[in-house]
Amino acid sequence: MKGFRTNQMIAVDWKPNKQDKTPIYRQIVEYISEKIAAGDWPIGSRLPSQRDMAQTFGVNRSTVVSAMEELISYGILESDFGGGTRVASNTWSIRMSQPPDWNKYIRSGFFRPNLDTIQTINHMEFEPGYIRIGTGELSPELYPGKLVSKIFRRMPERIPSLGYLGPLGLPELGEALAQWLAVNQGIEAKASNIMVASGSLQGLQLVSVCMLKRGSNIYTEAPSYLKSLQVFQSAEMCLHGVQMDEEGLEYWKIKDASNDSLLYTIPSYHNPTGTVMSERRRGEVMNFCQSRQMPILEDDAYGQLWFDEKPPKSLKARDKTGSVIYMGTISKTMAPGLRIGWVVGPEAVVYRLGDVKMQTDYGASSVSQWMMTELLTSGDYDIYLETLRRELKARRDNALTSLSQYFKGIATWNKPSGGFYIWLCLKHRVFMDRVFADALKAGILLNPGNMYDYGENHAIRLSYAYADPEDLRKALKILADIIEKHQKR
Ligand code: PMP
Repeated sequence: MKGFRTNQMIAVDWKPNKQDKTPIYRQIVEYISEKIAAGDWPIGSRLPSQRDMAQTFGVNRSTVVSAMEELISYGILESDFGGGTRVASNTWSIRMSQPPDWNKYIRSGFFRPNLDTIQTINHMEFEPGYIRIGTGELSPELYPGKLVSKIFRRMPERIPSLGYLGPLGLPELGEALAQWLAVNQGIEAKASNIMVASGSLQGLQLVSVCMLKRGSNIYTEAPSYLKSLQVFQSAEMCLHGVQMDEEGLEYWKIKDASNDSLLYTIPSYHNPTGTVMSERRRGEVMNFCQSRQMPILEDDAYGQLWFDEKPPKSLKARDKTGSVIYMGTISKTMAPGLRIGWVVGPEAVVYRLGDVKMQTDYGASSVSQWMMTELLTSGDYDIYLETLRRELKARRDNALTSLSQYFKGIATWNKPSGGFYIWLCLKHRVFMDRVFADALKAGILLNPGNMYDYGENHAIRLSYAYADPEDLRKALKILADIIEKHQKR
């Protein structure tokens, strides 16, 4: 259990020692005092609710209440106007000098904190016992352990050294990617057009800090994965959502494609809706943007995960004039922990990104880059993808069966032809944060659709990639009951 507040997050993951002779309530008083004295919990930080703390500590609520009352009586904690408790003072201890006012510093950084719901999800994902029905990651059961071991065994002979690498990354990987992108996706790029990034998220971050200025207009599908991040908003750019129909982004609704604007799109197996931009729409979007000299940032995180047929060619594969910056990643196909993504674009662009990357982290992990090189050049990656596609398709079918069983009267949904996601649209209004909270109580962690959207929606992003299929079925059954209950209110 954790507490979450913008700028003031307190994470509690400690338990009293019940074997210790010190009374439990005293252990709690000491634990909280130490946290505050050490500066871990700055003044103003809010504590989780007493009920949540009692649950985390594994004690009765009355024990927590006694400890809190004592701390309040010392002036260390105070009651909050919202009914909670927060840190009031750290000056009781004269034996030590005062820590800096960390909350002031924490609020000063330009990068915005995550949305509260996302902070909660990011923490709860590491708590055991929850069924994660929205997680955008492959299940640990799908981790190709044998393949990874095989590749790692070959690596000692392949790796000549593990020094720093140049701005574009490991040259061997650049060559391997250029070849793979040409053969696999019809993208014409030389190694000099490719920059290896520490995940495609870093690609996004670099584009936002290197190439755009404050006030730039960024257009995205509405909803979009990008809206759930603070990357562009932190750099004070204006995000605009563009509606979608079943063929994808309705580009004609882009109002101002003038200077300094950019289109960010996920044409294949869109996150969060699973939509695939049609062949025709891709051509039109290219014409629209090229005629206005509006750059496109194409995010192809899921393009390899097709089930029955490949999606239409990427926008980058149609790009003859260098209008598209393309991003790929190994995170959704194999392992996000490798932190390997790639950005493909005109040389001037990738050089600029590479230069700033050198000032940021001096390169993605060399071990991961060697591993990715071996995966691609051995042909093992393509063979592995075939198995993964079959497995994901079976999981999609399982999810669809459960949805028809439990959600017919209460929601509509799409049948994705690849990727991870089903966009579940509820037929009636609900207070999504209450559904989220009730689901959490029932051991289900979900991704509310409004995290990705520009206005309120009544949708949930489901992922069939993570949860065990039987667990997903059980969770969907319970969720349907919860939603039905809330829709009646
Ligand atoms: N783009 C999209 C569309 C994604 O869904 C994600 C992961 N959720 C990313 C980028 C980031 O992936 P990476 O691990 O490569 O940074």
